[in-house]
Amino acid sequence: MEKVDVIIVGGGLAGLSCAYELSDSGMTILVLERGDFSGSKNVTGGRLYLRPILKYLPEVWKGAPFERHVTKERITFMGKGNSTTFELYSDRFQEEPYPSYTLLRAKFDRWFSDLVSEKGVFVIPQKRVDDLIKEDGRVIGVRTGDEEIGADCIVAADGILSFLSEKAGLRSPFQPEQFAVGFKEIIQLDSRTIEDRFGLGEGEGAAQLFIGSLTRGRMGGGFLYTNRESLSLGLVIGIESLNHMEPREEVYRLLDEFKERPEIKNLIKGGEIVEYSAHLLAEGGIHYMPKLYTDGMLLVGDAAGLGLNMLVTVRGMEYAIVSGVLAGRTIKRAKERNDFSAASLSEYERLLNESFILQEMKSFQHVPSLLSNPRLFSKYPQLICDLFEKLMWVDEEPKGRIYQSKIEELKRQLFNWETFKDWLQFRKI
Ligand SMILES: Cc1cc2nc3c(=O)[nH]c(=O)nc-3n(C[C@H](O)[C@H](O)[C@H](O)COP(=O)(O)OP(=O)(O)OC[C@H]3O[C@@H](n4cnc5c(N)ncnc54)[C@H](O)[C@@H]3O)c2cc1C
Repeated sequence: MEKVDVIIVGGGLAGLSCAYELSDSGMTILVLERGDFSGSKNVTGGRLYLRPILKYLPEVWKGAPFERHVTKERITFMGKGNSTTFELYSDRFQEEPYPSYTLLRAKFDRWFSDLVSEKGVFVIPQKRVDDLIKEDGRVIGVRTGDEEIGADCIVAADGILSFLSEKAGLRSPFQPEQFAVGFKEIIQLDSRTIEDRFGLGEGEGAAQLFIGSLTRGRMGGGFLYTNRESLSLGLVIGIESLNHMEPREEVYRLLDEFKERPEIKNLIKGGEIVEYSAHLLAEGGIHYMPKLYTDGMLLVGDAAGLGLNMLVTVRGMEYAIVSGVLAGRTIKRAKERNDFSAASLSEYERLLNESFILQEMKSFQHVPSLLSNPRLFSKYPQLICDLFEKLMWVDEEPKGRIYQSKIEELKRQLFNWETFKDWLQFRKI
């Protein structure tokens, strides 16, 4: 069997970051990607927070094909027939390094893959890994078609359904509450129209998240990110909540309904759908993380269950990038010791624990159970919209006193046992 130093399975952000970190090590690094090119099979909503990454990979991003830097944050609560949007503008969003950027994976991962290749890493597209090769319980290589190739260390960067982690015995069977499914369209519009519709300056971007009736009470929400010359519009729904709610429905239709809402319709008017994708994303949090290493193998990014959905912020790409870098650092040290045993590779977990990734995932360990509360996606968004609408509404009847009519009603809605229990849960995050 031919042998290299490191095989990275999956040429997404996690795999490529690991390869980038290892590119100056003198080792032979092979990235195997099943897609036609890096980015061809990768899906994201569309926003990367840059600041957490800079400490780990400071230089790489200068020439990156980002779309727009986000200067406007919007959260929209959707009721049936009404909605309320909160908008945040801050001078801090204009300070460099800009806190977050929108991006398109087909462009971004491809650029990153070229960069990694220029640094001497072999990135091989259209190469699917079918199996692991083990010897005495230790991972020593991979099988791709009828070929076998060995390595001192294999990095599983094969995404959310990582079958390599399963083959290595690192994770237990999947549970529906671990995942949400996302549907996304990329809608082409010229940049001037985007800037006018969202009230943006040249190169500036907006990020808008939606919670409420668009998912019909199911756990999830919508997103809209402005790219240079397109919008990324999509919807995410928890698999567990889909399983338990009747009537069953074809969920992709919810995206069509969402687009029919006037709040969205007017933003995408005249646009042309140029890409459609669907993908799973991690929702389980730290409780569903697999074991991160074994003899001869490490897991990174989505394959390692690293991700955090806080409804108002979705984090996965930075976790993928930084876990890839930390895996690379671990492998370099293992090479110095010439020891790729589980004990030696356990340093990876220590590095992850010291990083923002596991610290955040621990801090927000109660978020998944909070998100399993359907009132978060039905009662509360509706309440916010109805209250605001009543405040703004003027008709032929004389307006009653605000305190009596509105606050008393709000008290009725909020001061009850159900809301009290929800409040107890909120306190945990
Ligand atoms: C709808 C949606 C919205 C999201 N929004 C955001 C967001 O706004 N911000 C954010 O930070 N995160 C977001 N995420 C999460 C984020 O996209 C992921 O966490 C991130 O893409 C993980 O990167 P990765 O490299 O680990 O995995 P992936 O990008 O999935 O890469 C895995 C790679 O492995 C390859 N592969 C798989 N199996 C094999 C095999 N057997 N052989 C060879 N290659 C293989 C695949 O082709 C793929 O290229 C979102 C996710 C979804 C689905």
